[in-house]
Amino acid sequence: MRFHILTLFPEMVQQGLAESIIGRAAANDILSIDAVNIRDYTIDKHRKTDDYPYGGGAGMLMQAQPVYDAWKSVAGGGRPRTVYLTPQGQTFTQKLARELAREDELVLLCGHYEGIDERVLEEIVTDYISIGDYVLTGGELPAMVLVDAVSRMVPGVLGNGVSGETESFEGDLLEYPQYSRPEEWHGKRVPPVLLSGNQKEIAAWRREAAVARTRERRPDLYRRYEALRACLPALKKEKLLHIDMTELIERGQARLVYVKGRTVCLCDTASGIYLHTAENREDGIAALLALREDAAACGEESPMLTLHQKFMREDAQKLLGVEETMSFYQAVYTRKEKLPVSGLYQTDAGQQEKRARRDAAQNGKDKKPAAEIRRLTLEELAFVRSVYRTVDDENYIRDRIEKGWMYGAFVDGVPAGFAGMHTEGGLGLLEVLPEYRKRHIGKALETYLINLSLEQGMTPYGQVAEDNEASRKLQESLGLCFSRQKVYWMEKKHPEKL
Ligand code: SAM
Repeated sequence: MRFHILTLFPEMVQQGLAESIIGRAAANDILSIDAVNIRDYTIDKHRKTDDYPYGGGAGMLMQAQPVYDAWKSVAGGGRPRTVYLTPQGQTFTQKLARELAREDELVLLCGHYEGIDERVLEEIVTDYISIGDYVLTGGELPAMVLVDAVSRMVPGVLGNGVSGETESFEGDLLEYPQYSRPEEWHGKRVPPVLLSGNQKEIAAWRREAAVARTRERRPDLYRRYEALRACLPALKKEKLLHIDMTELIERGQARLVYVKGRTVCLCDTASGIYLHTAENREDGIAALLALREDAAACGEESPMLTLHQKFMREDAQKLLGVEETMSFYQAVYTRKEKLPVSGLYQTDAGQQEKRARRDAAQNGKDKKPAAEIRRLTLEELAFVRSVYRTVDDENYIRDRIEKGWMYGAFVDGVPAGFAGMHTEGGLGLLEVLPEYRKRHIGKALETYLINLSLEQGMTPYGQVAEDNEASRKLQESLGLCFSRQKVYWMEKKHPEKL
């Protein structure tokens, strides 16, 4: 991601963004932050960049010419997305940060004094953004705020990406309270559940604490959260079909776009994908129109969505210009108990050896040790990319690895396959190398991910394409239940696919 910051005080932004996580990402070329001195572009012989406002009034105004020429120096002949930081803009939010993070390049314009001549703003600015209802002396701090919030959503910037998905404002809840060592400080003890090691109870405690904190500190957000929860009973009437929607709400990753009775439209805050279900066609159309408006407000021209009724496909096509690209059955693990692991995998090499020796002793003969499963690291990114053909998007796979949702199966230390969780929450991304097939590696990986999801209080599910016989058989063997109806994946077809 490239940021160009047009400013009269380049050192201020350079110094402010040179440290810590953002500075490191820039040093590693994941971000480029280029501060352009507007004064370098003035044609005034005294290097002046401001003058008195016509009509009188207090203060000075930045002139059009130097601003325009500085902008031209980065825009070239193009028209990059250009943000003017101003108290008169729309308020900056996490949602807007997520939307801007999808750009490859952003130009940020910082005003000073009383602001900037209106005529140049009309020519170059695409977005007016404020960081809050107060007035600062210049746009440099707001630009730094924006660069920071947007950058941490760029894949590779946050080493430990898990934090990005669980933080405040993701899913209308503030983050739960956190504690670090020592266990007791000033007579206050860390809540015992956090020391229990029981991930399911920890997740439940955190959820409750986040809800209580939001209700107390941000009643406005809490009302939105309550509206989302109120959709659950209607969605749960067709539990298997709507598992992707209910899980999105339960995991705190949903934003409500439309609701009327059993017609609901949600947006997945992590991926920007919409999920739509309709009780009847009329309400379904109203929900699609709300979706279209929401996507436009997010600057999304080609929204992607999952429809839960076949009868809405034509309306979606007409109203959003999208087409069905795939359809799936939902496969849901409905039980609460974990799956048996015996003979499938080990999670650490020491145990694996011990088990192999014990098996060999019991059976009186050598038995092939089960696969070892462990979380993948970025070192395995190239391997996953070379093997997995279904998703050809390096950033996506990088993001999944960074968020801790890609696991590999290793046999004798050699990678044999992998699986993971998609951003929207479904299990998938499964691939087993041909030479390791028919050795229960896929089953081991799925079992591992199902058990891991259960530990975190989630209901594991995946989406199975109609013609994917192998996947269907695997899910059935693990006891997953299938929805009777399919869901339809709709997106704008790329020209080469047409
Ligand atoms: N006269 C302007 C007005 O009343 O809207 C305020 C100008 S302010 C003193 C100078 C510059 O600081 C602005 O041009 C803008 O770039 C920046 N600025 C001030 N407050 C801001 C805020 N809340 N959000 C974003 N930028 C701000």
